[in-house]
Amino acid sequence: MNAYVERVLADLIKRNPNEPEFHQAATEILKSLSIVFDKHPEYEEKGLLEMLVEPERIIMFRVPWQDDNGKIHVNKGYRVQFNSAIGPYKGGIRFRDTVNLSVIKFLGFEQIFKNSLTGLPIGGGKGGSDFDPKGKSDSEVMRFCQSFMSELYRHIGADTDVPAGDIGVGGREIGYLFGYYKKLVNEHTGVLTGRGLTYGGSLVRTQATGYGLIYLMEEMLKEKNLDFAGKICVISGSGNVAIYAHEKATQLGAKVVAMSDSNGYVYDADGIDLDVIKTIKEVKRERISTYINYKPNAKYVEGCKGIWNIKCDYALPCATQNEIDLESAKILVANGVLAVGEGANMPCSIDAAEYFQKSGVLFAPAKAANAGGVACSALEMAQSSMRTYWSFEEVDSRLKHIMVNIFHNIKDAAMRYGLDGDYIAGANIAGFEKVASSMIIQGVC
Ligand code: NDP
Repeated sequence: MNAYVERVLADLIKRNPNEPEFHQAATEILKSLSIVFDKHPEYEEKGLLEMLVEPERIIMFRVPWQDDNGKIHVNKGYRVQFNSAIGPYKGGIRFRDTVNLSVIKFLGFEQIFKNSLTGLPIGGGKGGSDFDPKGKSDSEVMRFCQSFMSELYRHIGADTDVPAGDIGVGGREIGYLFGYYKKLVNEHTGVLTGRGLTYGGSLVRTQATGYGLIYLMEEMLKEKNLDFAGKICVISGSGNVAIYAHEKATQLGAKVVAMSDSNGYVYDADGIDLDVIKTIKEVKRERISTYINYKPNAKYVEGCKGIWNIKCDYALPCATQNEIDLESAKILVANGVLAVGEGANMPCSIDAAEYFQKSGVLFAPAKAANAGGVACSALEMAQSSMRTYWSFEEVDSRLKHIMVNIFHNIKDAAMRYGLDGDYIAGANIAGFEKVASSMIIQGVC
């Protein structure tokens, strides 16, 4: 590893103890940027890496709220404004009991490079809370969102920081957050993306991350004369990303045989019925175990890790970080997996991702593969600023164009450094280059 990179990484780990997810994300990215730093010694003179790994601002706050029985709860709220070199901070909000500063910093750090890859003017940020909306009533979720926004509103704005959804934050939560922001600030602006279509949202935003994943994979598969027609897919998760990845893969002729939630997975040899999944997850907010009530021939298995034991052509982890470890990667490879597309953020551990690449599996890394969501969010911001709406076809074709471009940019970046086919390195390098040159032009700040 380049000596400068090694030193900054060691320092980062020492100065940010107890942040394993942030260490993991930084290690993965910085290791693959080592080769760039070998070629650009001037980056060290400018202190570029030291600035890049330190968030511009971290906001942490208390989120008190009252449940339906009058009991008071206090959660932690976070917003990490990581890097604004190429545009206003942009990145989702995650509500999940496992959220902590390390998780938000890992997501915010990744977001810098992902947003850069979209080619659109958006910086990197992320936020969230250790609150889990699962099992809460709508009124409880609303009170929580209002309390969260009563602090966050002073730090965000359409030209400053534009949050969106993530795990646990869908249309309902964005609605409550936006409504309260508007009340506090008295402005109807594009301060959040993922808004409903009746109040400033964009068509395709709901589908964007899942569709974008498939568009990018489609382009990658062409490298080996492959496509989705007749292929078997396993998709983890059954939330926003997973559902729309299923929808697009199926439209292209694939069969999705398994999906999961955090309790377990369902296997349906006839192909998972997406209408049933949408009913369970988007309408009834139930567990995926209930799928077998609709499809008695399907099988439900408790525990979600086993989903990777199912033989498939393409594996699409679309649930959460570190869901595929080396052991699962080995099983997938032994079962003949041809390609892996990361719909979730950092779903593969570093050694699992390396194993896929070493084994000749086409590997689409999250930063590139799931950038469709934030790209479409930037298109939502553009429509808000122009006070206009584009048709479904227009947004979808812009999304597809962006994903195809991302693939060619990461492929070219890998080739420029003699790393043909290493799309992990390609994504990190291509995402980094634009941020680095913008930071240098803007000086020490
Ligand atoms: P959702 O909340 O809509 O869905 C998440 C899904 O993953 C649910 O099915 C959930 O199950 C499952 N899940 C969560 N934690 C675990 C776990 N520990 N083990 C197994 N399954 C789990 O989130 P999204 O679909 O929006 O996000 C999924 C991933 O995609 C995240 O990594 C997110 O950061 C990333 N992403 C999302 C984007 C977007 O536009 N939404 C954009 C880019 C990345 P359960 O119902 O049991 O909680």
